[in-house]
Amino acid sequence: MPGFELFGAEERQHINDVMETGILMRYGFDGPRKGIFKANELEQKITEVFGCGYAQLTSSGTAALTTAMAALNIGVGDEVIMPSFTFVASFEAVLSVGAIPVLVDIDETLTLHPEAVKAAITPKTRCVMPVHMCGSMADLDALKAICDEHDLILLEDACQSIGGTYKGKALGTIGHAGTFSFDFVKTITCGEGGVVMTNSKDIFEKCDGYTDHGHDHKGVDRGADLHPFIGYNFRISELHAAIGLAQIGKLDQILAIQKKNNQLLRSYLEQIPDITFRVVPEGGVDNFAFLSWFLPTEDLMRAAIAEMKAQGILAGNFYWYDNNWHYIRKWQHLHNATTLNNISDAQKAALHDLKTQDFSVSDAIMSRCISTAISLTWTEEQIHDKGAKMAAAIKKAIAEASVVA
Ligand SMILES: *Cc1c(COP(=O)(O)O)cnc(C)c1O
Repeated sequence: MPGFELFGAEERQHINDVMETGILMRYGFDGPRKGIFKANELEQKITEVFGCGYAQLTSSGTAALTTAMAALNIGVGDEVIMPSFTFVASFEAVLSVGAIPVLVDIDETLTLHPEAVKAAITPKTRCVMPVHMCGSMADLDALKAICDEHDLILLEDACQSIGGTYKGKALGTIGHAGTFSFDFVKTITCGEGGVVMTNSKDIFEKCDGYTDHGHDHKGVDRGADLHPFIGYNFRISELHAAIGLAQIGKLDQILAIQKKNNQLLRSYLEQIPDITFRVVPEGGVDNFAFLSWFLPTEDLMRAAIAEMKAQGILAGNFYWYDNNWHYIRKWQHLHNATTLNNISDAQKAALHDLKTQDFSVSDAIMSRCISTAISLTWTEEQIHDKGAKMAAAIKKAIAEASVVA
């Protein structure tokens, strides 16, 4: 999964380039920086590698989502439809711009169920935010058609799916805007960082200003910049961008290793008739960071987990249903609207409603699902060993469960 597994001389070299001048800020200091602009260079590379018109780096993926929403003019009272399975950052960003997260069910793509999106549309809906979890994507044609019909914004949270594609286009470049995270555990990393990608010059220019206190970046120097609107500091540093430049150069290698390792591990799980795999929409290509698989029932999945735990081979297998970062079931702070400062009454009411909302469709999927993280450093021998042990443990759990039944 994470690009940090391949850190080497390239990252060191780019960091050294920055340290040679000592200019860690991406803007200004034109003399002493001696032509070193790592953030600019990385933005240029992102537009080339992923095929988008514009890229705006940010300090994190969360900041990228917040920036994108501001640039898309999403704010107080607007409803943003998003999936019940995501990372907490997705709703944090929605709440931070004053908007209302409307969580809906997923399907076996592990992201937005197009029918659930349709059913959730109200006059206040402004945006549909698919989250391409664990390397693969939502049915984007279906979501685009819904957005076109209802005049809604499509914002892709592609933070976990760097390098995945849909009908030949990079995930994150298909909606009005899309985001990646470059945090430490993502497919490529800056340590911390993120990016907003878009094909709209207007959206890009708003992102550019918003991430730097509203500076228009048109003055002869920073002091002469105008501030056409209020922004924040969501800048990336040159040191983080330097790491990202090294990592983006390794993306093809990372994706190739992930695919190979993922498919070899999958060949073991495919031998178990009860196992099914996450649905990838037609025309989509997974980035292979995870192998996501299902058993027929929650009981069988829990039995398989218990057996893998007993054998000491559970590490790296994520059972999102029980974890409190990625699935609605355990987001107590969201259900209770526990914030440090005031949020609007409309936001509070919407969060309150989440407590009683029926997520049985999502539960029935997530309670049977494990995502196995794919390491870049596994040897072939280790994968054969891991695959054989996992398959044996799962088979044993299934056999014992059928005896009990
Ligand atoms: C990691 C992640 C983010 C946020 O990224 P950070 O860089 O950690 O702020 C947003 N959405 C999803 C789905 C993520 O996995």
